[in-house]
Amino acid sequence: MATEKMEFQTEVRDLLNLMIHSLYSNKEIFIRELVSNAADALDKRRFLSVSDAALLPVGTTLKIDIAVNTEGKLITIEDNGIGMNREELISNLGTIARSGTKHFLKSLKENEQANIDLIGQFGVGFYSAFMVAEKVEVLTMKAGETQGYLWTSAGTGEFEITEAPKQEPGTKITIYLKDDEESLDFANEWQIKNIIQKYSEFISYAIYFHPEPTKNDKGEIETQEPKRLNDKPALWRQSEKEVTQDQYKEFYNVVAHEGTEPLAWSHSHAEGSMEFWSLVYIPAKAPFNVWNNERSHGLKLYVKKIFIMDDCKELLPTWLRFVRGVVDSEDLPLNVSREILQSNKIITNIRKHVIKKVLDSLLQMADKEADKYNDWWRELGAILKEGFHMNWEHLDELKKLLRFRTTKTEGNSLASLTEYISRMPETQKEIYYLIGDHKEGIESNPLLEAFRSKGFEVLLMTDPIDEFMMGSLTEFGEKKFHDVSRGDVDFDKTEEEKKAEEASKSEFKGLFDALQKSLDAHIKEVRVSSRLKESPCCLVTSEDVMSSRMERMMEAMGQGKMEKSKRILEINPSHPISQMLKAKVENSEDLEDWPKALYGQALLAEGSPLPNPSEYVQAINKLLTRAAK
Ligand code: ADP
Repeated sequence: MATEKMEFQTEVRDLLNLMIHSLYSNKEIFIRELVSNAADALDKRRFLSVSDAALLPVGTTLKIDIAVNTEGKLITIEDNGIGMNREELISNLGTIARSGTKHFLKSLKENEQANIDLIGQFGVGFYSAFMVAEKVEVLTMKAGETQGYLWTSAGTGEFEITEAPKQEPGTKITIYLKDDEESLDFANEWQIKNIIQKYSEFISYAIYFHPEPTKNDKGEIETQEPKRLNDKPALWRQSEKEVTQDQYKEFYNVVAHEGTEPLAWSHSHAEGSMEFWSLVYIPAKAPFNVWNNERSHGLKLYVKKIFIMDDCKELLPTWLRFVRGVVDSEDLPLNVSREILQSNKIITNIRKHVIKKVLDSLLQMADKEADKYNDWWRELGAILKEGFHMNWEHLDELKKLLRFRTTKTEGNSLASLTEYISRMPETQKEIYYLIGDHKEGIESNPLLEAFRSKGFEVLLMTDPIDEFMMGSLTEFGEKKFHDVSRGDVDFDKTEEEKKAEEASKSEFKGLFDALQKSLDAHIKEVRVSSRLKESPCCLVTSEDVMSSRMERMMEAMGQGKMEKSKRILEINPSHPISQMLKAKVENSEDLEDWPKALYGQALLAEGSPLPNPSEYVQAINKLLTRAAK
């Protein structure tokens, strides 16, 4: 085969361009990325050999070899893992856009110094080599095949592929270092050793460094024995006492493919009817792509120390998909398949255990380190809220973990349901909440006016998931939840208040009928409001129908056009506008544009979109013009 030249996919080219010109101060992470790719390739070969023994002949030791050549200005990183065939080389290293490429480019544009470290998370770690390389060669042969290939690129617009002989399956990456002091400095045993110790100490395969041959006194070349750089047993199989805090944090970087500190972790060893080890981490920051529950890394499953799979969904419910870590079972068979995992008693038990450990860690933090927990909640709390759906087992713990902004919290602070209940005045019977589309402005929704004046706190919810969550969250302790935008509110009214309300009902009947007539397409009832203090009107939803937000969400989720349920317009009888309109009706005057204006105001005040914005603007303009005359 002649050498073939190919072009990098556009986004990859942009990424390479950024890498080549990067001023990032921590370029050493390219070694972490290449070693981590090598370890993944070893995992894959070992795993596939369970069902196809020919892929791993007896006596083969899976390992990673690193060597430097100072004169030649190069570093090689070699593994005897799964390797790649021609198609895989082309698609993995250049021509197929990976979803992470675009996201990573975006994050780099925001803050290159902070974000390059996250490269592994985006599935484009290989390209980090171009921060220090003027040319990279990848010589590889796939296990089970006989033809090797050489991929070469200088990281500019294109790469080359040619057939090349290779003895063993696996991949050898050669980095031709750029001719600057910073890059050349990596071709050095001491540097490599430090970097491996920092990032890759817990890789479960041996990593060897091959020192450069030296000349002895007689001028003869002497080769030296390779040195093992990592020799720790699997961290999760050590006892908690043996592992330092720093080691736990470093191991997190390995399993989570990132360089930040975890929020918390839980390490345990269960023995008895079944034996397993688990080390699970709760990230402090939302991992890339965690909002899309199709693609997340989750937990790695090992059986008897042998890697079986990444992202073992069976071990965690989707509402804990941000958790990272390792589970190692002594009892599962080595050839477990996804199908077996789905209905396996051992997995069910481990899953229970892992969920408990994660929830316990969070509860403990919520209790002892409230500020830290609240920061975490703002990052990832919305995922935990998904746990309320179709879940009866963990509701009590989840309820305790919920945090809310409320009409009484200030700035960044959040309240738990326990705090909320402890602040309830005696006259308040229920837990009130309001769901809105936007964080901004929800606290000025007119629906909150009467609650404020009574001193009743209202939970403010603005996550898209809140509407679904509240479908399953009906009470906390003895108290029921009540959506303030729905149905009637049962304030303990004084006799006087009740009388006044009855009086308003009959006084305003004429106005209500007139409003109903002109807004009939949108409104099913007009009534006196006991929720409003300053605003003239608001919209509420009956108890038994879907909220307008839910209707919009269902539409957005492709459920087709929803039949819009009509809402209830509540009028504040003591507001000057209501009084003025009532007088108009009594004098048999036309209400003109007022009904449209009031309806539009009510929608805008709760943050809902207007069905016909230009009609609303025209109505308002007419009213304003009249006032200006
Ligand atoms: P990631 O490893 O996060 O998927 P990379 O950009 O580092 O992203 O690598 C891209 C892909 O190239 C990998 O997913 C893998 O399929 C392949 N690859 C990289 N290095 C090796 C290797 N040493 N052996 C086999 N395949 C590799």
